[in-house]
Amino acid sequence: MARWAELKSQGIKRFGEVGAWAFDKWKMLNDTFFNGESKPGAIIWGQTPQGKSLGYYHVSENLIYLNKNLMRPVYPTNDFKWGIQHLNKKIAGDVLLHEMIHQRVNQTGGWVGETSHNNERFVDEVNRIARLLGMDIKAKVIKQKRTRDKSIWHVEPGYLTLKELSDFPYSSRTDNYYYGHP
Ligand SMILES: [Zn+2]
Repeated sequence: MARWAELKSQGIKRFGEVGAWAFDKWKMLNDTFFNGESKPGAIIWGQTPQGKSLGYYHVSENLIYLNKNLMRPVYPTNDFKWGIQHLNKKIAGDVLLHEMIHQRVNQTGGWVGETSHNNERFVDEVNRIARLLGMDIKAKVIKQKRTRDKSIWHVEPGYLTLKELSDFPYSSRTDNYYYGHP
């Protein structure tokens, strides 16, 4: 994959070891969850465009942003330090996997629906990847339900909420998954 190697060396120039880590992790996740079929794009460490989110996928540029605040030994604390030794690799790996689901959906025809998380394509990927991760969860597109005078978003019992869909897979990890050594 010549393109991947080229992007990785640019990532190392800009971000050092965490740049290299992101590309190696991307390749591993691509082989494990996407048959090695996703097309690589740049992975940028910095502020995500929306500020608050831990990751972001830029559709038209095939670009993944990872929030530099992922470099905290135990999340969440305030003592952010730049460097691979401060990276919580478990959280960062899950954030990267989430963005790679958006990447996958967009590289295989895109989505039609309510939002980039609440649509058939994204939900199908969540179910597929949850099975591979051994997670006992189910996802389904959340639809509006009409009551007498208004419509409400109705989550069927046993299915992921919109927030859980938007934060998959980190929303669905066991409570202590992220603690201890990354
Ligand atoms: Zn998302």
